[in-house]
Amino acid sequence: MGKSQEPLTLSKGQTQLQRTLNTNWHEVWTRWRQSRFRNPIKSFMWKLTNRILPPLPGTCTHCHSPWTQDHIFQECPATMGPSILRPYIKWFSPHQGNLADVVLNLWAIWSTQTSSTHNGNGVPPPITWKRLTKAKLNQERTRMSPT
Ligand SMILES: [Zn+2]
Repeated sequence: MGKSQEPLTLSKGQTQLQRTLNTNWHEVWTRWRQSRFRNPIKSFMWKLTNRILPPLPGTCTHCHSPWTQDHIFQECPATMGPSILRPYIKWFSPHQGNLADVVLNLWAIWSTQTSSTHNGNGVPPPITWKRLTKAKLNQERTRMSPT
């Protein structure tokens, strides 16, 4: 291990991810710094990577589990990404594919879920979920594409 590969201090949850998904934390953070997303998305991704997203109120109306980060992004069958089913797993895996797609799928899930929860509606039905997350994804893709 060279000087640039000093061991990072990882939380319990981050260690767990590394064990199950073979997360390369140095690579995840480098990837992160090179991103060019809007500030709310950057802030969201920073919290997600640190596993400090605020828990959402209530419990999942689909599986009655608390709205933890792992539940929303990894466990719940009702909160899939619009074009990548499990972008969370891709984000923390060494071969994540298209970075922007992964990040925007994560953002689409989070922004759709937070607005549904704050409206007191729980998880929308699958067809509505798909429509809402797809709209968020396309909205960001449009914002990011050169004019
Ligand atoms: Zn659920």
